[in-house]
Amino acid sequence: MVCTAITKKYLMKYSHNLQILIEMYKFVSQIFCLSINKKNIRMKLKFISLSLTLILASCAIVKTLNLYSIDDDKEMGRQMYAQIANAKSDFPLLDSARNVAAYAHINRIMNAILNSGVVAHRNDFDWTVKIIDSDVLNAFAVPGGKLYFYTGLIKYLDNEAQLAGVMAHEIAHVAARHSTQQMTKQLGSQYITSLILGENPNQYLAIAGQLANGLGGLAFSRTDEYEADALAVQYLSRTEYNPLGVAGFFEKIINETGSAEQSKLQTFMSTHPSSADRVRKIREAWVANGSKTGNDFKERYQQFKNSLPK
Ligand SMILES: [Zn+2]
Repeated sequence: MVCTAITKKYLMKYSHNLQILIEMYKFVSQIFCLSINKKNIRMKLKFISLSLTLILASCAIVKTLNLYSIDDDKEMGRQMYAQIANAKSDFPLLDSARNVAAYAHINRIMNAILNSGVVAHRNDFDWTVKIIDSDVLNAFAVPGGKLYFYTGLIKYLDNEAQLAGVMAHEIAHVAARHSTQQMTKQLGSQYITSLILGENPNQYLAIAGQLANGLGGLAFSRTDEYEADALAVQYLSRTEYNPLGVAGFFEKIINETGSAEQSKLQTFMSTHPSSADRVRKIREAWVANGSKTGNDFKERYQQFKNSLPK
């Protein structure tokens, strides 16, 4: 089932990209075919290089194409947030009034990252973090700045820099607007318009479920994952945290082979780029951002864990 869904998704994605490339190529050919003198090799080379440049440019446009406005992101996020709040069996949220200390910890971490000075749409979105009381090794974000962390993940990590790393990664998906970018590519504008207009409101929960599938899960491409990792390193390099905390979760996964935790990670493993690749790229981003050491805040993190329900 999962494989079929993935294949279908990629077919849709690539057929869309391919169509644009074909159109670009036709356009370029139409302009230049009449003016090319077949004996003139320099001209031919110029034509080939211009075609390649345009094709590459169209790839860049396809990658970042987003048909939706900031307000669309916010509106979608607002509706998903409301539906998640009502879907208590799927998303058992930890009550913030009864868990003041735990929420103070997680809000402090979120605010430190948001105040790094380099988060896009810092003031456009209504940033909120919720804790889901479930033994799942996951976190996810919905458009417009709503972040969700499972108690399973919080308990699994060893220090605050690692949690800040996952948090920064999720904030990066929102700030780079990866959800609406992916929806633009995969679902098409009509589908989203029907959501915005409220013609198909139940689909919000389906999208939220997809986003919840493994630290961003199926909804994001590999490129999005690498970009979110690199942005996360950039954010943490401007906070008091150790920016290599971004790699912490993946380093732990690498060390889990054969352990009891491994089975909980299967969904994550099947939907994400290899952890070793990500750790390598995160280290490259760390060097590019000045190799800052920062702090892991291990003891403070233990207090956060102790504040969660047992
Ligand atoms: Zn992600």
